[in-house]
Amino acid sequence: MRVFNTLTRQKEEFKTVQEGKAGIYVCGPTVYDFIHIGNARPMIVFDTLRRYLEYKGLEVNYVSNFTDVDDKIIKRANEMGVDSTEISEKYIAECKKDMEALNVRPATTHPQATKEIPDMIKMIEDLIEMGHAYEKNGTVYFRVRSFKDYGKLSHKNIDDLESGHRDEKHALKVSGESEKEDPLDFVLWKPKKEGEPFWQSPWGEGRPGWHLECSVMSKKYIGGTLDIHAGGEDLIFPHHENEIAQSEAANGTTFANYWMHNGFLKIDNVKMSKSLGNFFTVRDICKKYDPQVLRFFMLTAQYRSPLNFSDDLMEAAKTGLLRITNSAKSLKDIINSNVSDKAVYDEEAAKAVDCYVKKFEDAMDDDLNTADAISAIFELVKFANTKAKEGINSDYAKNLYDTLNKLADVLGLKCEVKEEILDADILALIEERTAAKKNKDFARADAIRDELLSKGIILKDTREGVKWQRA
Ligand code: AMP
Ligand code: ZN
Repeated sequence: MRVFNTLTRQKEEFKTVQEGKAGIYVCGPTVYDFIHIGNARPMIVFDTLRRYLEYKGLEVNYVSNFTDVDDKIIKRANEMGVDSTEISEKYIAECKKDMEALNVRPATTHPQATKEIPDMIKMIEDLIEMGHAYEKNGTVYFRVRSFKDYGKLSHKNIDDLESGHRDEKHALKVSGESEKEDPLDFVLWKPKKEGEPFWQSPWGEGRPGWHLECSVMSKKYIGGTLDIHAGGEDLIFPHHENEIAQSEAANGTTFANYWMHNGFLKIDNVKMSKSLGNFFTVRDICKKYDPQVLRFFMLTAQYRSPLNFSDDLMEAAKTGLLRITNSAKSLKDIINSNVSDKAVYDEEAAKAVDCYVKKFEDAMDDDLNTADAISAIFELVKFANTKAKEGINSDYAKNLYDTLNKLADVLGLKCEVKEEILDADILALIEERTAAKKNKDFARADAIRDELLSKGIILKDTREGVKWQRA
């Protein structure tokens, strides 16, 4: 597989540090509100990357943080008159609900900044000891000039950056406000202000800077050199540049081999963001569309391309997804009707299907080109629909159905057809389960509960008897 590496600005062959394993760190959201669909883009595309690497046989350690201490969270908490953990815990839970709806699998670990403070303090102490950081009046700064590779990710020259700050530097010097040695230096630890959460540290009560958490948590939960570090392109500078400086200065090893950044989700060609107010939450969009449609829409573009959100494109995504699920449904009907006297899945059919699978893999191998991968799925759908019309036996249909499902699953799209079950059949099974329980045949009773669950039926044992509902 080839991936575009922001560090080298080219597509490179993806090779993992350890054979058969990949460590991926993705910067997660700051949790002070419901996530918007721009935040969902990195979640969906990098979840798809993870799924594809697993499809190729790699064991993936996927780590994505929640930034749960930050100015925006504190501001929100103060406005609401509650503790900032109440805000962050609420929106972490809400974010997880959105992720589940979008079929974004939970990360191997979802670390939270506030739970990793001792390790952050340790990294700051190491950086101070090595001369890469210094303390002034309770604030600790990273000494940017002490890290010679600063700017390598964003391809910025440190002297150009410096001159961009010249006026600011002059003004601060005149007013005596600057305590930094250099305007480029950034904060590792900041002293507490009234009404802010704080932790004890060797530099007084305070809290860590934002960039530090990702350096510390990626080291703790992945360790060594990361295979891939990912996030939205707005994070390249300064966030990721600063992460590299902190980590490489402290650890003396390469921080991450590949840097992948998704392009922006836009509205009318402007980046969707909370601060501009031009955003929709995932929750809002999912009132109007199935979350699968939103996921499909996000994957209709290659992840580095900007993507404009519009009702028209969502409608097109809805139609596209329906084409896939309808095809899956008609294949399932053929499987269920046990057709045996129609065309068999012969070598020629297998060859045609392999060809679509190869097209899909070639697209995904080319820097996760999900747009072309979807086209390959559409070709398979067209083939399947034609064959279904001509007449195929159940085994043939099963081969097509399984392949379609396998490829859709790599994209995190659900096209598996749930078995329909009639109310009368549900009631009969519930009766059988009650009888099994009476006879102490708990294995059968559990099996019936599981069977119903697989068909989307949830049972509830109540004092008035068994109640059921469709999921
Ligand atoms: P934040 O909560 O702002 O730190 O963002 C969480 C993640 O969402 C980061 O990886 C951002 O780069 C990403 N992100 C935010 N807005 C957009 C957008 N409009 N399009 C794509 N990614 C975004
Ligand atoms: Zn980060």
